[in-house]
Formats: sequence, structure tokens, C-alpha cells
Amino acid sequence: VSVFNNVPMAPPDPILHLNTLYKADPNPHKINLGVGAYRDEQGKPWVLPVVRKAEHIIIEDPALDHEYLPIDGLKTFTEASVRLILGKSSPAVLENRYVGCQTISGSGAVRLGAAFLARFRKAPIYISKPTWGNHRAIFADAGLEVREYPYWNPEVRGLALKELLDTLKSAPNGSIICLHPCAHNPTGVDPTPEEWKLIAEVIRDKSHFPFFDCAYQGFASGDLDRDAGAVRYFVEQGFELLVAQSYSKNIGLYGERTGCLTVVTRTPEQATAVRSQLCKLQRAMISMPPAFGARIVSMILNDEKLFGQWMVELKTMADRIITMRRELFNALSELGTPGTWKHIVDQIGMFSYTGLNANQVKVLIEKYHVYLTDNGRISMAGLNSGNIRRFAEALDWVVR
Ligand code: PMP
Repeated sequence: VSVFNNVPMAPPDPILHLNTLYKADPNPHKINLGVGAYRDEQGKPWVLPVVRKAEHIIIEDPALDHEYLPIDGLKTFTEASVRLILGKSSPAVLENRYVGCQTISGSGAVRLGAAFLARFRKAPIYISKPTWGNHRAIFADAGLEVREYPYWNPEVRGLALKELLDTLKSAPNGSIICLHPCAHNPTGVDPTPEEWKLIAEVIRDKSHFPFFDCAYQGFASGDLDRDAGAVRYFVEQGFELLVAQSYSKNIGLYGERTGCLTVVTRTPEQATAVRSQLCKLQRAMISMPPAFGARIVSMILNDEKLFGQWMVELKTMADRIITMRRELFNALSELGTPGTWKHIVDQIGMFSYTGLNANQVKVLIEKYHVYLTDNGRISMAGLNSGNIRRFAEALDWVVR
């Protein structure tokens, strides 16, 4: 008998499945608002010109080889990555109490962090409700007990601050709290600096441990420092923490799988021990991370001119998305679409959480060929001046 007879079908990944449906749809006016990948005004993927430049420099270097990287990755990449998120003059950097470990993009950083915590911090992890679809899967698969804290208040279409704080207060002391520092996926709702302060207070009072998942630094506001504000605030407040970083969106390196797990400890000795354990875990999972994306990012982060160019291109992406928010809001206002839609301009980052329900989403897909996840989340980057009116009209139709 076959070993595989007892293997049942796993459910398809909701987002990747949506992409398959979109690709198979022959309608020329179809719109893809599912997957969170940047698209330009023509609806095409955009390779940042600064990435092209870095690629050329790398492949034209006669000294380029394809040797293995160290287990914790390319040093020039991880050092720059730590400084990008924490800031060059972060107390953790100045006091040499940090670790940067290169990972398989943001997902791999979340996974490595989860594996580390499952081993050294046996406590439940709280994720926001709702959150990125993969959080639960990764944390549970790594052996952590996953619980939820409320995040979205549908009545105000904003942050459920009181419920969030209450849940963190009633969580067992020493729980792990997974936080999105900017551009919360899927809601596009971020705490204000004052709200972060309140969250930090509870985390301190309860001796919780913060695990930031930062997939959109610079992509949210166009400003790298601003989007790192929450992480830096926690470090200034003396917290130890983990941060998962992804270069999928902000440098557009999706398929190159380039990321970093940054750890802030209390002492340099702890950092050395943590690094050794991360290397041990990483070795058992992937041996060592891939080189090409890290070389590109390292070159961009460590060269003043390339860095300057990146900031301009990052702002181009962030601004286009902000413009699409405004245009969508304006189109709905013009159409007199029932309901309030101000949240579309108030939300930040790649996504907008429209408030549409699963039935309305079904109609949008089947009748209008507009593809979005059934929680009503739309990827703003999928909109452009060529399709935004059509989308607004479809949305108007389904909510009437
Ligand atoms: N965390 C969050 C919250 C995300 O939205 C994403 C991207 N969808 C990731 C992590 C990881 O993405 P990647 O593995 O491509 O870096």
C-alpha cells in the first residue's frame, strides 16, 4: 500500500488561491486587489531602479562567487538592517546588545523568532484579531500556544483600544505579544504614539514580551524613521524584544526572500548567547540563508547615494498608494455610496479594510471580476487611474 493513501487534501491558501482564480479569469476588465504586492500605474510589478542598479554592480564584480553565507547571514546586510529598524543611535546599538540574523524574508524571521521563543520562553503568544493570515499558522507550527487580542472595532472602523488593553491586562504574566509596528495587515489601522504608550505600559506591568512583525517599514508613510517609531519607542523604554523585518515590499524583493530577525537584549553577553542559539536553530531549519537579495539590500543600505535614491523610490510607492486612497474616497463620495468611507483615507499602508462582508465580496468576484479576500480587505496597490472608477462603481453597487 502507498504511504500517501492517508494524506488528505489540505485546504488551499486563501490568498494564493485567489490569485489562481484571478489568473484564470478571461475577463479583460478584471481587477486583482488580493495579494499584497506593489503595482505601478499600469498595474505591473515594479522593479525599483535602485535595485536594477545594485544588481548590475553585483553581477559585474569579477570577485563575485557563490560561496555559502555564514549561518546568520551576510554581516554587512544584518548590521545595516538592525540600524535601519532601531536607528543608528539606538541605545541597543550603542551598547552592543543586539543580534541581527538574516532570514528567509519576513516569514522566515517570524518563524525563526517563533522557534526561538518556543524553546526559551514557554508562554502563549497573542496575535491581533484580525491579523496577517500566516501568523497563526507559523506560531502554531512552531509549537506556541496562539491566543488573540481584539484589534478592530467595526463600529468606528478603527482600533479597539480598550478591548486590546483589557485583554493584555488579563493575559498571564510574561505572555508574548505579536505587534505590527506600522501598516497593520489587514486593517491598515495603527495605534497613535499615545496609544502605543498605553500598550507599552501594560506590556511592562505584565512583564509581557513584545515581538514586532515589521513588513512595511517606509512603505506605510514613505518615511523609514516614522514607520519604525513604535519599535524605537519600546527600545528607548528599555524593553527587550524581537523584530521581524521584510524587504519584500519596501525594496520590492518579494521572491528573493530577504529579511532579518533583530533581537534586542539587556547585555552584550546575552546577545552573544542568543546569536549562538539562533544559529543553531537556523542551521537545523535551512543551514544558511540565500545571498543575492541580501547583497542587493546591503549595497543599497550601505551606500549613501543608493540609499538616497531608494528613499525617493520608496516615497513614490507610498505616495501612489495614498493617492489611490484619496481617489477611491472621492469616487465613492461622488457616487453618493451609502455608508461612511472616511476610513479608506485614514488607514495606512498596503491595505484597506473596507468593511465589506463575505457575501458582498462574493458578488464582487463573481459579477464584477474584482478579486479580494473575503474579510473585505483590498490591496490599494492593485488600483490605478485606469480601474479605480470601475472598482468604485462595483463597490457602490454591492453596498446598495
Ligand atoms: N508579516 C506581515 C504582517 C505581512 O503582511 C507579510 C507580507 N505579506 C509578512 C510578514 C511576510 O512577508 P515576506 O515573507 O514576503 O517578507
